[in-house]
Amino acid sequence: MTGLLERDRGLLWHPYAPLDGPSPYAVHDASGTRLDLEATDGTRFSAIDAMSSWWCAVHGYRHPVLDAAIHDQADRFSHVMFGGLTHEPAVRLAEELVRVTPARLQHVFLADSGSVSVEVALKLAVQYQAATGHPGRRRFVAVRGGYHGDTTGAMGVCDPVDGMHALFPGLVSDQLFLPRPPAARTDHGKLLPEADPAVDAWITEAEELVAAHADTVAAIVVEPVLQGAGGMHVYPPRCLAALRRIADRHDVLLVADEIATGFGRTGAPFAVEHAGVEPDVLCLGKALTGGYLTLAAVLCSGRVAEAVTRSPQRALLHGPTFMANPLACAVAAASLSLLTPAVTDRVAEIGRELSTALAPAAELPAVREVRVLGAVGVVELTGPVDVGAVTRAALERGVWVRPFRNLVYTMPPYITGPDEIAAIGAAVTGAIAQVHR
Ligand SMILES: *Cc1c(COP(=O)(O)O)cnc(C)c1O
Repeated sequence: MTGLLERDRGLLWHPYAPLDGPSPYAVHDASGTRLDLEATDGTRFSAIDAMSSWWCAVHGYRHPVLDAAIHDQADRFSHVMFGGLTHEPAVRLAEELVRVTPARLQHVFLADSGSVSVEVALKLAVQYQAATGHPGRRRFVAVRGGYHGDTTGAMGVCDPVDGMHALFPGLVSDQLFLPRPPAARTDHGKLLPEADPAVDAWITEAEELVAAHADTVAAIVVEPVLQGAGGMHVYPPRCLAALRRIADRHDVLLVADEIATGFGRTGAPFAVEHAGVEPDVLCLGKALTGGYLTLAAVLCSGRVAEAVTRSPQRALLHGPTFMANPLACAVAAASLSLLTPAVTDRVAEIGRELSTALAPAAELPAVREVRVLGAVGVVELTGPVDVGAVTRAALERGVWVRPFRNLVYTMPPYITGPDEIAAIGAAVTGAIAQVHR
């Protein structure tokens, strides 16, 4: 296997990593919550995947129900074009998505990745505005510290600094940004009630920004309650409820990007539900297929769909080659069938267990804060994490994490047991204590 790592080196780009290292770990196998990994020095690790492969593998690896769904569909057909054709897996998945998401959302576009679903949502918002007599409304209001994907339209609504707007002038569009909302307080994985005057000030700022640009804004784009890859920041649901009111007041759409937060991760089926808010457009991805295949969905309300249908184009102007891939739709429908109330209860328990397991990390000198929302645990350091060293130190303790910036965080699979959650907490705490003395 070390041969594999040598062949990888200089050949394959890894996400946001230089071609010449640092070396990745080779995966031999993955089953349940476990990854079987090998380092460049030949060391083997059987590690709990505390990342769910970036929010995706919520049911763990090689789940029999998901494996069977893929096999059954592969025995029929693996892919067909969606232009002029349809199939049972796509229709079943769309019916299910409409059923489980907020009532307003009635129509489904099946895209091939999260970023593409954001592109579709942006186009949908612009098409909606043009169709309702506002062709000048083509910009977006987004939130500092947000992350919405790596394609250029999506980059435009990412945090302008993290999103590297300055590096891609002309390619990445110039959008309007609200400050990052104040932090919410959490206790044992649950949001605490909040009456912070800083939140009122943020809401006033949001109202003023949208009011000042209402003639040019098509939609507000936001990750509800938990900003993910932009900094694992939890903010009060009241901010989201305010954005809903502001959007309504100015006939601007509210696009909720739940690519990371969807399907129970934050302790509610969808994070918008913490605020009792229904978006006009909802993006889903990541855990949609239980992490088996790339697939994303854009849901929209009847009002949005009707406007587009009445427009001269009549269609949503998008259509990727692999849209609604049957294998991906079949495994996504199977993944949804596994998200029973018992699983939702388990997420809440994971939240409580993670708070206990990560509490000792808060005592470390290098740690600024520990926060837990649902099955997401975040340890924020006072300075940048030594990613390579902390990753290795956690692996030596039987846990796979992938820190970034000043954050060591975990969102384990929902099948992770109490002992494994304790092991994750101990490994994260131990690794930080060892590396950041
Ligand atoms: C991961 C992510 C995306 C991008 O999805 P990809 O499948 O990586 O293109 C967009 N928005 C949010 C909130 C995400 O977490």
